Amino acid sequence: SHLRSTDIRTDNSPLQIFVKAKKKINDIFVEIEDYVQDTVGFMKSLQAERNIVTAEEAERIESYVDKVHGIRDVLKRDHMKVAFFGRTSNGKSTVINAMLRDKILPSGIGHTTNCFLQVEGSDNGESYLITEGSTEKQPVQSVGQLGHALCKEKLCESHLVRIFWPKEKCLLLRDDVVFVDSPGVDVTPNLDEWIDKHCLDADVFVLVANAESTLMVTEKNFFHKVSTKLSKPNIFILNNRWDASASEPEFFEQVRAQHQERAVDFLSRELKVYTPKDAEERVFFVSAKETLQARMQEQRGQPSHNGALAEGFQTRYFEFQDFERKFEECISKSAVKTKFEQHSQRGKHIATEIRQTLDEILDRTQKMKSEQLYVKKEIHDKLNYTEQQLMLLTQEMKDKIHHMVEDVEQRVSKALSE
Ligand code: GDP
Repeated sequence: SHLRSTDIRTDNSPLQIFVKAKKKINDIFVEIEDYVQDTVGFMKSLQAERNIVTAEEAERIESYVDKVHGIRDVLKRDHMKVAFFGRTSNGKSTVINAMLRDKILPSGIGHTTNCFLQVEGSDNGESYLITEGSTEKQPVQSVGQLGHALCKEKLCESHLVRIFWPKEKCLLLRDDVVFVDSPGVDVTPNLDEWIDKHCLDADVFVLVANAESTLMVTEKNFFHKVSTKLSKPNIFILNNRWDASASEPEFFEQVRAQHQERAVDFLSRELKVYTPKDAEERVFFVSAKETLQARMQEQRGQPSHNGALAEGFQTRYFEFQDFERKFEECISKSAVKTKFEQHSQRGKHIATEIRQTLDEILDRTQKMKSEQLYVKKEIHDKLNYTEQQLMLLTQEMKDKIHHMVEDVEQRVSKALSE
C-alpha cells in the first residue's frame, strides 16, 4: 500500500536527457544536410558558369553529403546500452525481466543463458529474434517459445541473439535502452573476446552478484579486464537474492555491512573507478524475483503482494527502484557523452570546412574582379552579381553554421552538466 507512485514512471525519467539530446542533434544534422546540399547546388552553378570553382572543390563539398548522411544513419542507431554480468544463476535474466516488467527472457533451471542475448525495442508491436549472421526474423510469441528457439539453435557462447520486443510494452525500450544478458562469467575462458565483441560500447555494466555468497574471483577478474580496455567503466553491483536474508534476521545487518564493504572496496580500491563515497551509491541489495512478481501483479491490476511475501519486501522493492533511478541517470549521461560528443565534433568540422571553402571562393572572385576590371561591362556585371550572391550566401551560411555549431555545443554541454 505504500508503494511509491513514481513506480508508474512518467516522462520525467532521466532517460529523457538522452532521448531529447538525440532528437535535437538529429534536427541539427537535418539542417546541416540542407546547407551542404545548398552549397553543392550553388557551387555547381558557379562551376558551370565560369571557372570560379575547381572540380576538386566541388567534389570535396559534395563528399560531405555522404558524410552527413552517414552520421545521421549512425545517429539513428545510437542507443543506451547496459550489459549484465555475473555467475550463472545469480539472477541476471530475472533482473532484466524485472526492469522490463515482464517475463521476456527465459530464466531458471534448464534455461542457462548460453550466448549473449540482447533485448531491444521494435516498432509496429512486433516481437521476434534474429540470430548472429542471419537477417531472418523469427517470430516470438512467448517466453516458452523463445527458450525453445534458443535451445534449438547451435549457439556459440560469444554469439549474439537479438530479441526485439514491442517498444510500447516498456518505457525503457521505448527510450532506446538496450539490454544485454551474458552467459555466466564462470563458464567461459573467452573473456577477452566477450569484451571486444559486446562490451566496448556498453554505457553501463551491472554486476549481478549473489547476496548469499561473496564476490567471486571470476566475477572480479571480468571487471578487471573490462577496466583495462575501458577507462572508468560505469558499474553497478546488485546483491541479488537479498530476500534470502529474511530467513536469517540475526545476521542481516552484519552480512549486509560485509557485502557493502567488499563491494565498495572492489570498486574504489581495486578497480579505482569510483571514490569510496561514490562507490557506496553503486551497491544495492535487492530481490529481482520479488520485484518481477510484484510488477506482474500490478500490471494485472492486483496489489503488488498478497501478504505472503518474505519480511522486508517493501524495502527491497524500494531499493530496486532506487537502483533503477540511479541507473537511468548514469546511462543517459554516459550515452550522451560517448555517442553525441563525437557527432557534434564532426558536424562542427564539416561546417568549418565548408566555411573555409566558401571564403576561398569569395576571395578568388574578388581577385578576378579586380584583374578583369577592363573587360566588358557584361562580364563585370555578372561577376558583380556572383560576388554579391557569394557574399550574401557566405555570410548567411557562416551565420547559420556558426549558430548551429554553437547550439550543438551548448546543448551537449548542458546535457552533460545536467
Ligand atoms: P541467470 O543465470 O543469472 O540469468 O539467473 P536466472 O535469472 O535464470 O535465475 C536463476 C534462478 O534464480 C531462477 O530460478 C530465478 O527464479 C531465481 N532467482 C532470481 N532472482 C532471485 C531472487 O532475487 N531471489 C530468489 N529467491 N531467487 C531468485
